[in-house]
Amino acid sequence: KTAHGASQQPGEGYAGPSAPIQSVWPHGSTVDSEGHLVSVGPHRAPAEYPRVPTVEPYPAERLDGQAANLWNEAQSVEATDRESGLKAYERFLASEPPEPFYSNAQYSRALLLAATGRNEAALDVLGLLDQTPEVTETGLPLAVLVRFQRVRLLAEESRRGTVRTEALTAAIHDFSTMVIEQASLATPSLLNAVIGFLEGFGENYSAPIRASQRVWSVDEDTREFYRTVRPLLQTPINAEQAFWTESNDRPRLVVLIPYEQPATDGAPKDVRFEMHIHSEEFLRHAIDSLLSRAPLRPPPYSEPAVFLRGRRVSTTEPHGEVLATVESDLATGQASIAGLTVALHLVDPDLLYARQRQRAFWFGALILIAAVAALTGYVTAHRAFRRQLHLNEMKSNFVAGVSHELRVPIASVRLMAERLERGAVKQPEKRHSYFLFIAQECRRLSSLVENLLDFSRIEQGRKEYETELTDMAALVRHTTDLMQPCALESRVRLGTQIDPGFPAGASHTEVDGKAVQQALVNLIDNAIKHSPSNAAVTVGLSRGNGDGTIRLSVTDTGEGIPSDEYERIFERFYRLGSRMRRETQGAGIGLSIVRHIVEAHGGRIHVESKVGEGSRFVIEIPAGRPNRIASADRDDSSQY
Ligand code: ADP
Repeated sequence: KTAHGASQQPGEGYAGPSAPIQSVWPHGSTVDSEGHLVSVGPHRAPAEYPRVPTVEPYPAERLDGQAANLWNEAQSVEATDRESGLKAYERFLASEPPEPFYSNAQYSRALLLAATGRNEAALDVLGLLDQTPEVTETGLPLAVLVRFQRVRLLAEESRRGTVRTEALTAAIHDFSTMVIEQASLATPSLLNAVIGFLEGFGENYSAPIRASQRVWSVDEDTREFYRTVRPLLQTPINAEQAFWTESNDRPRLVVLIPYEQPATDGAPKDVRFEMHIHSEEFLRHAIDSLLSRAPLRPPPYSEPAVFLRGRRVSTTEPHGEVLATVESDLATGQASIAGLTVALHLVDPDLLYARQRQRAFWFGALILIAAVAALTGYVTAHRAFRRQLHLNEMKSNFVAGVSHELRVPIASVRLMAERLERGAVKQPEKRHSYFLFIAQECRRLSSLVENLLDFSRIEQGRKEYETELTDMAALVRHTTDLMQPCALESRVRLGTQIDPGFPAGASHTEVDGKAVQQALVNLIDNAIKHSPSNAAVTVGLSRGNGDGTIRLSVTDTGEGIPSDEYERIFERFYRLGSRMRRETQGAGIGLSIVRHIVEAHGGRIHVESKVGEGSRFVIEIPAGRPNRIASADRDDSSQY
């Protein structure tokens, strides 16, 4: 804060004189508005003191004859005979002499008491002189000398252990303040002597003395420096000033801050100026430590330069382009002084550009990632939307298909039943064929309804399977027999091809017989629907290639299925060419049910086909006890 820096410690605890302080107590030296130095340093040490020793004997003519004799006697005898000198001073003092004789005689008496080993008495006598304003004949302030002697005697007594060290500490503080406040030619030698007295007492005791030594040297520096500054001051001073001076090649900043001198003893208030002298080294040091402690660091490619009133006060002297400049005021506690500039220089452009490139790269990467993410999101959403749209279309096709499937047989059955009822059909053969047709249509309808119910169970995940050991050959034969009327109607030859490894009456495969039968019915129904007249449909049963599976197959010689549809025909609602043509009956759920049944048995289904030559649907299911959990809790309905 001030050029006094560390040397200010003694001033910190210093509360000033007892007069009330109404404004800020100055921490620097004081100058009046005419530019006269009023006091120096925070201790308000005198601006000047006699630089050469002057001996001014006390005016003996102010004593009466008797007292004058005693005074002369005491002075002449004290150097040779202490006891006589002591007595002479005591007699002189008994005559109640005026000042300055009184204080001086008491002081001499105290010294003689101490010299004759009566320290305690000497300290008592010194106590009488605490407040004396007198000076010795050589012009030294008596109050300072009194405190000096007190430290000396208390140090001696403390060594002996006869007094408490608190008394010594208090005396040291008292002396160290007073010796600065009442500066004299003797100040430095008194401070040195006290350091000598306190030898062996430890650093704590001599610390205030060393602090005062530093204050003294700063004060002396200020006194000397002021002489060069004096002509530079623009008087009368009426506002704060700050300027650089250069004496002995030591640049220093002088700052004058106005403050109000409190009114004391009826004297009017007065505006004075607190003078701070900051050396360039000090400011650089302060700025450097400030910069190193700053919460915000300049980027590594830049370096700051700090200027105060046009002079650089930072140790760094960066070159290169100025990136930014900040002008501010220098706050000094009570006032602020304009002219603080901080400039940020670009010292490493390569680093800056490298960073810039890196940042640009990352920004680019970020934008790219965002774009990719957005695109992916769009594509996914679009696909889901399309799929939903497709599903909706297939569902409405399904509803139309189912309605058609139901309406046609019901209509014809009703027609025939009505005709039979009216007795319109006379010939017995025709009536027989009517009955056959009605029974056939009813079977078809119930198979369709069965499929629909199964489909809805599968969709809701409620379809359950009950497995038991089943005679597969019998199952195939029975199912084929069941479908014979349907084949007959379409003029299709329906036959079986059962491997001899399946003897009749042997139950060897654990399946849900009803479900497998339904799967076969669906496949045979499809084969018949897609076969031309007089074609053959064969249901095969054989063992897999030694892997413990059994193979069920339904082969036709119909129109076949294009290879790119192999997968899709197993999807729910999917019908080949369903949108355009409706040449075959169906709702598009048959194969999806078949696949569900097969997979619930731990098996697989696939189709082998050639367009124009026919198709073969092959089911492979494990013969043993596979992991055939009911699909009740499988939510894979989306596959159908
Ligand atoms: P649906 O038979 O009710 O239309 P499916 O799920 O049973 O529904 O069959 C889906 C589609 O697969 C049918 O629309 C048909 O085009 C085709 N398909 C099934 N079986 C055969 C087959 N044996 N020959 C030719 N195409 C077939």
